[in-house]
Amino acid sequence: MSAIQNHLQNITNELPQGVTLVAVSKYHPASDILEAYHAGQRVFGENLAREMQNKHDILPKDIQWHFIGHLQKNKVKYIAPFVSMIQSVDSIQLLQEIDRQAAKHNRIIPCLLQIHVAQEQTKFGLTFQECLDLLEEGSWRQLTHIRIDGIMGIATHTEDTSLIRKEFQSLNNLFKQVKETYFLNDDNFSYKSWGMSDDYQLALQENSNTIRIGSAIFGNRPSKESLQ
Ligand SMILES: *Cc1c(COP(=O)(O)O)cnc(C)c1O
Repeated sequence: MSAIQNHLQNITNELPQGVTLVAVSKYHPASDILEAYHAGQRVFGENLAREMQNKHDILPKDIQWHFIGHLQKNKVKYIAPFVSMIQSVDSIQLLQEIDRQAAKHNRIIPCLLQIHVAQEQTKFGLTFQECLDLLEEGSWRQLTHIRIDGIMGIATHTEDTSLIRKEFQSLNNLFKQVKETYFLNDDNFSYKSWGMSDDYQLALQENSNTIRIGSAIFGNRPSKESLQ
């Protein structure tokens, strides 16, 4: 068994029922993805549209690709034909473009709203208020080729576990509020995507059901610049 397969198995063995593991393969070669694939992993996360498209083209077609990075509107077209979920929606304009591109392929693309919960200013996402405003404004209801299936967030990169826990709790509270207000009878609205390599155990304690793990499976990432 390879190191990647070993890491993967150690993580999946301890995952509670009903938790989706997104193996974050960004910047890693397709051969690494295949190793995880042969150990049974089917859900992979990428954060560059072209890289995801290239990998989709050459890898098995039953892989479910989750887009997790900042997505520019003009790049949506590259992934719209096949992407399983876009976890990083941060504006109504992006949602509209995803809807437009999905329509061309006769698809409905499941999306998560990315929430800016971390203290770092550099992180992307909607503030809690922007998220509620977007939903309240209501024009998303007319978009028939997207579906809003939950929320995603990235905690502050810190050793302070009480801060991370608080951020996960506030994501969980937002999820509950949004569910009750807008999606009470919509079973698809069910994704709580928080937790990465360094904080996924904490995330699971705080009700996450979707974790996105990269380095704990694939090891340190090659730099973005090393990509061909
Ligand atoms: C890179 C990335 C991950 C994975 O990070 P690791 O710390 O390597 O597990 C998870 N989520 C998002 C949004 C990312 O960009």
